[in-house]
Amino acid sequence: MCGIIGYIGKEDNALDKIIGSLEHLEYRGYDSSGIAYITDNKLNIIKEKGRIKNLKKGIDFNNKSSLGIAHTRWATHGEANKINAHPHKCGKITIVHNGIIENYNELKKELSKLGYKFISETDTEVACALFDSLYNKYKDINKMFIEFEKKVKGAYAIGLIIDDDYDNLYAIRKNSPLIIGLSDDENFIASDMPAILDYTKKYIVLDDGDFAKICFDNIDIFDKNGIPISKKIKTFEGDENSMDKGNYNHFMEKEIYEQPDVIRKTSNNIMPDFKPYKKINIVACGSAMHAGLIGKSLIEEYGNIPVDVDIASEFRYKKLFLDKDTLVIAISQSGETADTLEAVKIAKSKGCDTLGIINVKESSIAREVDNVIYTDAGSEIAVATTKGYTSQVEVLAMIAHELARRNDDVNKLKEFSRFLLDIKRLPLTMKQVLERNDEFKDIALDVYNKNDIFFIGRGIDYGIAMEGSLKLKEISYLHSEAYPAGELKHGTISLIEDGTPVFGIVTDKKVADKTISNLKEVKSRGAYVIYVTTKDLDTDGDFYDKKVVLPSTNPFLQPVITILPLQLIAYNVARLNNCDIDKPKNLAKSVTVE
Ligand code: GLU
Repeated sequence: MCGIIGYIGKEDNALDKIIGSLEHLEYRGYDSSGIAYITDNKLNIIKEKGRIKNLKKGIDFNNKSSLGIAHTRWATHGEANKINAHPHKCGKITIVHNGIIENYNELKKELSKLGYKFISETDTEVACALFDSLYNKYKDINKMFIEFEKKVKGAYAIGLIIDDDYDNLYAIRKNSPLIIGLSDDENFIASDMPAILDYTKKYIVLDDGDFAKICFDNIDIFDKNGIPISKKIKTFEGDENSMDKGNYNHFMEKEIYEQPDVIRKTSNNIMPDFKPYKKINIVACGSAMHAGLIGKSLIEEYGNIPVDVDIASEFRYKKLFLDKDTLVIAISQSGETADTLEAVKIAKSKGCDTLGIINVKESSIAREVDNVIYTDAGSEIAVATTKGYTSQVEVLAMIAHELARRNDDVNKLKEFSRFLLDIKRLPLTMKQVLERNDEFKDIALDVYNKNDIFFIGRGIDYGIAMEGSLKLKEISYLHSEAYPAGELKHGTISLIEDGTPVFGIVTDKKVADKTISNLKEVKSRGAYVIYVTTKDLDTDGDFYDKKVVLPSTNPFLQPVITILPLQLIAYNVARLNNCDIDKPKNLAKSVTVE
C-alpha cells in the first residue's frame, strides 16, 4: 500500500516529474501525501492531509530541483494527519516508507535512550531515526544499510535523501515492492512501473534486502551484505494508456468495460502441465479469494480433486495439512499481497508445488512461486477490482477444464467439448450484457438508499454472491452481506424487513429450485427480491420484484457473465450515493502490509 516516488536528474525539473508520477500512484494510498526535495542545496519538506491535490497547493513549482522523494500514505501507525504524513526527517536522513516496521516499539525505546525525540506516531519515523543513528555510528552509508537490514523486522520499501550527499538518491527494500526506473540523464524509484511510464519503460526490480545508490547517470546496487550486484534491465510491456480514464467517468467504469478484451487476451494462456495432485489449496485475499471459491466449485465438480480455499491471512497462522501431493495456488492481482506472499513461502517450506495466478509481471509473488499463469488484465487502477477478478475466474475455469480433460469422466460432459468454442465467444456475450446498463441503473435506483442488502446463492452462486456483495459495500459503503441461500433461515433471516433488498443468484441448475424456495421465504417476509438467473433457468413466479436474465453459456464460464450485472449495479449505486468510486474510504489497492 502507499506509493513511493524518488527522482534524480541532470536537469532541474524534478518537481513536475515527481508530482506527476505520484498522482499515478494515488490509487495505492491517499489519506495524506508529502514531498522532500532539494532546491538551492537546501532540503524542503511539504506535507498535507488528504489527496495530492491538497499537497500541490503548497508547492512552488517554479523551484528548481533535481532530487526529491515523495509519498502518498495509507496509514498503519497513527492517524492520517500532517505530522504522521511522510517524508520523515531525523538528523541527516529523510525518508519515505511503505510497509510496517514490526519491532518499532523496541527500536523506539533504544533510540530514545540515545536521545532521539519523536514527533509522529509512525513506525516510519523510528526507521528514520535508526538510519540516522547507524549513519552517525559507522560514518558509512553502505554499513548503515547493512546494519539497518539486520536490526529491522517487518516490511519496507524506503526512499532516502542523505544530507551529506545530495548527488545521490538512496533506496532499500524488503517484503514491499520497489523498482528503479532508468532514463537518459535521470533515474527514478517507484512503487510500481506504470507510475513512471511517462518518462521511461526501462526498469530494474530490487530483491529483498537489496539497497541502491542512484545518481542521474549511474546506479549501484548491493545485496544485504553490501556486496555489489548487477541486475537485469527489463522493459515494461504493459499497456501505456492504463493511467488514462479515456471517455469514462471513473477507472472502475473503464475497467468494467475492458473486461471482454481482457478475457479474450487471457484465454490465450497455455496451461502448465499438472501433476496428478491429490489436493489443491487456494490461498488469496478479498476478491481473489472469491475467485478462488469459484475455482473450488469448478475444479471439484469437473476436475474431481478436493480443493480448500483459505484466506491467506488465516492460512499463515493455522495448522496445515499439506504435502508434496498438494498444489498450492496463490491468487493476487498485484502479486504483492503480503499475506498471500507469506502463504506461498509457507507452502514451499512444506514441500508443496506452488502456482500463482497473478496480474503484475515480475511482482513478488510471481517471482516466488514455482509456476505462474498471468492474467492479462493490464494495470488496474480502481481500488475495487473488476477485470482483475474476472480474469482470475477465467484462469481458474481453464485450470478446471484442463484437469477435467485429463479425467476420463469428462468425455461424458458435452460442456467440455464446447469449452474452447465458448471461451472464444465469451467476450461477445460479455459485451451484450455490459450494453444493458440501463437495466442495471434501474435496479440501482431501487436499492441505493437502503441500509442492509443481502446476496444469496448456493454452490458456485454463493461465491458470486460474495463478490457481488463485496463490490457493493466497498465502493458504496452500504451494509451488505452474502449468505449461502439455505443458511439464511438459521439466523440472518431475522434481519429481513419490508423492502430489504435480496439479490438471489440462480445460475446452477442443480440447486436452482432450492434457491428459488429460499427466495420465496424472504419474499414472504417482505424482501425486495432481485432474481439474477440465466436464460436456460429463467422461471416466472411471484417470488421476485425485478429479474435479470443473463445469457447462458458454458458452466465453466458462466460465473464470468454472472458477476457483470452485480459490478455495474454496485457502480451505479455508488454513483447515486456520490461516493469516491475509484478511491473508496479507508481502502487502498495492493495490500502490501499484513
Ligand atoms: N507504516 C507507515 C505509516 O503508517 C507506512 C504506511 C504506508 O505504507 O503508507 O506511516
